[in-house]
Amino acid sequence: MSSQAETVEFQAEARQLLQLMVHSIYSNKDTFLRELISNASDALDKLRLASFRDKDLGVDISDPHIRLEPDVERRTLTVRDNGIGMSREEVVDLIGTIAKSGTAELLRELKQTQAGAAAQELIGQFGLGFYSSFMVADKVTLVTRRAGEETATRWESTGEGTYTIETIDKAPQGTAVTLHLKAADDEDSLHDYTRTGTLREIVKRYSDFISWPVRMDVQRTVTEGETTRTVTETETLNSMKALWARPKAEVGEDEYREFYKHISHDWADPLETIHMRAEGTFEYQALLFIPSHAPMDLFMRDAKRGVQLYVKRVFIMEDCEDLMPEYLRFVKGVVDAQDLSLNVSREILQKDRHIQMMRKRLVKRVLSTVKEMRDAEDDRYRTFWGQFGQAVKEGLVSDPDNQEAILEIASFDSTADAERQTTLRQYIERMKDDQENIYYLTGPSRSKVENSPHMEAFRDKGIEVLLLTDPVDEMWVDAVGEFDGKRFQSIAKGQVDLSEEDDAQEGTERAQQREDFADLLSWMGTTLQDDVKEVRLSSRLTSSPACIVGDAQDMTPTLEKMYRAMGQEVPRVKRILELNPDHPLVGEMRRAYQEHGADEGLTESAELVYGMALLAEGGEVREPARLVSLMANRLARAL
Ligand code: ADP
Ligand code: MG
Repeated sequence: MSSQAETVEFQAEARQLLQLMVHSIYSNKDTFLRELISNASDALDKLRLASFRDKDLGVDISDPHIRLEPDVERRTLTVRDNGIGMSREEVVDLIGTIAKSGTAELLRELKQTQAGAAAQELIGQFGLGFYSSFMVADKVTLVTRRAGEETATRWESTGEGTYTIETIDKAPQGTAVTLHLKAADDEDSLHDYTRTGTLREIVKRYSDFISWPVRMDVQRTVTEGETTRTVTETETLNSMKALWARPKAEVGEDEYREFYKHISHDWADPLETIHMRAEGTFEYQALLFIPSHAPMDLFMRDAKRGVQLYVKRVFIMEDCEDLMPEYLRFVKGVVDAQDLSLNVSREILQKDRHIQMMRKRLVKRVLSTVKEMRDAEDDRYRTFWGQFGQAVKEGLVSDPDNQEAILEIASFDSTADAERQTTLRQYIERMKDDQENIYYLTGPSRSKVENSPHMEAFRDKGIEVLLLTDPVDEMWVDAVGEFDGKRFQSIAKGQVDLSEEDDAQEGTERAQQREDFADLLSWMGTTLQDDVKEVRLSSRLTSSPACIVGDAQDMTPTLEKMYRAMGQEVPRVKRILELNPDHPLVGEMRRAYQEHGADEGLTESAELVYGMALLAEGGEVREPARLVSLMANRLARAL
């Protein structure tokens, strides 16, 4: 049942990425082989699993392997596996399109990135995989037959916009990818991919740990007495040793790096490698990596997470979520458990006590590794926190057991330093003698928070305030409560009294002011009752006329907005308007109220003061046009 070859256009995104590959900007072309071998290895893993789950699949799994078949005359290289193979639909879906989340974003960023190196880095985050063949080939032919299916599929493309696809009668089960190689670089036989020596080198370098044999036929000259003849021998190019099972001391840095690239599809080196083994009642080995940069889908909902799970060297599943909590979703690696059944399913894993115990240990180890980097004042800590801090902070809410450990490795913007973030320990060291709280202010951006009126008295008294501007900050500060016995206290919530306690004179002055302003405050409270629940005097302002604060248990405006954005109904929170009695505007309003009571002008003033306080903290005014017109009228009169 052989059908006519059909010509199909690549999906638009795929075409754009192919363009980049064809006109390769990546200097290290050798890596195409790593990608193809990695795909073949995945296909063998999948076949093993499939045959394990479905005994009737009826496939031969006696000798799973990968073969490299160079052909000097035809200048081709074929990478062949007898793995799971692909159906025709799968070829179209997997090879003709790019279904990965975040691709659109990648392309947008690529368009903005001119420099080749940076573009390469971006591509690396997506692991172009199969398409990288077009770095070295001007035509690629793929013949594949899915395990259990009768017919096979032949796919071919020059990488320039279209591919042909046809159903063919016969092909061995598995996949063969044939690269029609571009002309070899004359000066550079090291990159001639028809040379067995070149191929042997590349496999050793990039794919030695692959757990299936990578074989190649090599010619050898044998001399027997007078006659010499050539014999063909099959050589296995990789050692197949599972890296994680080897003693740490025997594994080289470069081996770790290549392994990381194999499992993560990242082109950049990892930031840190964690190799651990647990012996005793429940035995396992883990090889974890912290990447050096965040993936683009770090904050996308359907992003993959988790590490690979092996049982006794046998690959079981990709993205085992039960071994790594969501807030550490960027951690990559392999966990090999000795005492699990090969039959484990995701459902079983969820409830398995051993898995939970392993997860606990892995999390502790990742957090303590970061702490070590931080304690050593290693620059890598800054990189880590810059890339992943926002995700890690989610753990403050979702993983109460590790709250303390996460706070230990966290860094925050602070008024103490415009450039560098501070840890909580450093903050505590700088605290004033009588200071009991860790002060913070949340908000949408550093500049908004830093210039908020709430900050005035703190700046005046030289008290450090943490500037929390990640959306997640709104969530954890309430949940966490304290660090090292010091309470987290928002400077935009509750009463703040920074006056020195034994300053009797200041105390009397305040009492007097409260009396003087009592009438104005209660009138304003009534006038603005739709917007605020109270109007009172402030001790946190030095130069602004007013600011808005919440009660200790109130939701912040940012949090309110976040809940709305997520589609949740939340009641509008009324906050408190605080006035600065020392500000001329506020003083004038009091005088006016005492002299001729409330009139239209004073009502407008009250509205203006409230509106300005909202603007000053970077909040949203309900009717901006009305506020502007009030202000314009005032200015016109004043001119
Ligand atoms: P990735 O490996 O990151 O998924 P690739 O571009 O390397 O991306 O491959 C795309 C998909 O094509 C793979 O996920 C796999 O489903 C399929 N594929 C590629 N090569 C093979 C192969 N040799 N055997 C079976 N499927 C393959
Ligand atoms: Mg791949």
